[in-house]
Amino acid sequence: MSADLSAAFRDPALAEGLVRRIHAAATRPMKLMEVCGTHTMAIAKNGIRGLMPEAVTLLSGPGCPVCVTGNADIDLAIEIARQPGVVLATFGDMMKVPGSYSSLAREKADGRDVRVVYSPLDALEIAERETDKQVVFLGVGFETTAPTIAITVQQAQRRGVANFSVLSMHKTVPIALEALVNDPSVEIDGFILPGHVSVVIGTEPYRFLAERYGVPGVITGFEPLDVLQGILMLAEQLRDGRAAIEVAYTRAVAPEGNPHAVAAIDDVFEPCDAEWRGLGVIPGTGLAIRERYAAFDASRRFAVEPPEPREHKGCQCGDVLRGAVLPYQCRLFGTACTPEHPVGPCMVSSEGSCAAYYRYTDHGRA
Ligand code: SF4
Repeated sequence: MSADLSAAFRDPALAEGLVRRIHAAATRPMKLMEVCGTHTMAIAKNGIRGLMPEAVTLLSGPGCPVCVTGNADIDLAIEIARQPGVVLATFGDMMKVPGSYSSLAREKADGRDVRVVYSPLDALEIAERETDKQVVFLGVGFETTAPTIAITVQQAQRRGVANFSVLSMHKTVPIALEALVNDPSVEIDGFILPGHVSVVIGTEPYRFLAERYGVPGVITGFEPLDVLQGILMLAEQLRDGRAAIEVAYTRAVAPEGNPHAVAAIDDVFEPCDAEWRGLGVIPGTGLAIRERYAAFDASRRFAVEPPEPREHKGCQCGDVLRGAVLPYQCRLFGTACTPEHPVGPCMVSSEGSCAAYYRYTDHGRA
């Protein structure tokens, strides 16, 4: 986005008008959950929580892919990184995430070949350059990153790169939201739906939330005015007793999504069960590599057995990720757990709720 356009979505006078309208529309208590980690950061950074009327509670959800990756999956990636001749390539966010006993950053410090890349295509290029190595790309993300990884796998097959594989820990968002609406400890009234994921999948996959559960959702962008507009549209639906999936982020999201990106995902991946930190195993929300690309599936290539996973004592990341507690309600927040010395992933990731509260608020109390 150009600097001018970006500034337009931060206009204080427009923001004030939207806040006023939210106050007027919030005629009943409403718990609204932002599903996406980028929204969590935008809300914290722009002080949006503090602008809300008392009736509106903003909850952070499971929309940070790094945070919802369970310890068992991180342990598996670490075990593969320990295999001789392996280069484990990953996005920077994953490096400091603690598994049960170690992290990729610690493994790198111990001499394993763990490299940060900016794109899976970088990992493919490493494999083409260093043919004596097995290059494994650790694929963590939602529908937003899955198409690029799918295209990388297609390229690897086309180019015959036999020493490249992907460890897929991808997850898909809509069905996971069903677990949240069924969670009586949270009682969500509406969802601020993720802009980036929705650019790919469009509106249709969320429709069941409104139709089956009567829970509205609004897809919105990441500038302050986008977020406020999304909250306003939700508040108006709830005031009027309506439930629909609406799009506030029309400059980026088409109702039908991006069919080319969806086709790439469908070609390479198939749905599988996935373990979500905080939500447990949710059938059909993982993305496993299909049989026709089995040669590029690191989970089939490496028969490793990581140690039994364990949770870190006192860590409440699971509760934070399903909106049951706020980050500062975790006893470890800001004491035993800080961005420098994270105990859980929510404090590590650039999209983590605990990191957002720690960085942008009076340690969550403001
Ligand atoms: Fe997990 Fe740390 Fe957040 Fe507690 S403060 S929930 S341990 S990341």
